[in-house]
Amino acid sequence: MNLIFLGAPGAGKGTQAEIVCEKLGIPAISTGNMLREAVKNQTAAGLAAKEYMDRGDLVPDDVVVGILKDRIAMDDAKKGFILDGFPRTVPQAETLDAMGVQIDKVIEIYVPDEKICARLSGRRVCEGCGNSYHVDFKPTKVEGVCDACGAAVVQRIDDKPETVLSRLETYKEKTAPLKDFYAAKGKLVTVEGQEEISETAKLTMAAIEG
Ligand code: ADP
Ligand code: ZN
Repeated sequence: MNLIFLGAPGAGKGTQAEIVCEKLGIPAISTGNMLREAVKNQTAAGLAAKEYMDRGDLVPDDVVVGILKDRIAMDDAKKGFILDGFPRTVPQAETLDAMGVQIDKVIEIYVPDEKICARLSGRRVCEGCGNSYHVDFKPTKVEGVCDACGAAVVQRIDDKPETVLSRLETYKEKTAPLKDFYAAKGKLVTVEGQEEISETAKLTMAAIEG
């Protein structure tokens, strides 16, 4: 089963991808997490991506597509995967098609704009494993420490309020057109993001299975 999770920054696609991938036994592939890892390790891709990410702009397609191709070619992705944060532009979606990757379903997680800002300002991510948390909705057991790996949990530079608005604009302009792209193929299912993460997870599983 090959799935794409689509949604505005902060809609909760990463959180849902982490939950659903365990239920389905397939990896969640987050281009955002992979790019942050590349930045941390100062790889060529990371050095090329950093300034775009810090500004809240999209990283150039060739950089992201390179990273994604390598990841999809790995053994654990043979039985299926969830793409979180890719494709983010119509040309990226066309690249997936050109690679011969079959997509079974595209799950859009929808949250109204006014809720997005509150979600992003409370979001924290683990510097070690990339897991995401929220100070109110999904706190760590010990403050500032990742439940999964024990590394430090921090606010992302691009989750600062001044960058959030530009990321939302980028989403509307560049990524939202993917909804029509996949709806035309009959693959789009929309799930309304709920206050409770577990409620959204139930709706998401129902959308995948239905
Ligand atoms: P969010 O969904 O909350 O914006 P992500 O972790 O998915 O966060 O992405 C963080 C940043 O990484 C994006 O703002 C962008 O700069 C970059 N990025 C991630 N995926 C892509 C992609 N498919 N194409 C271009 N840039 C990307
Ligand atoms: Zn961690």
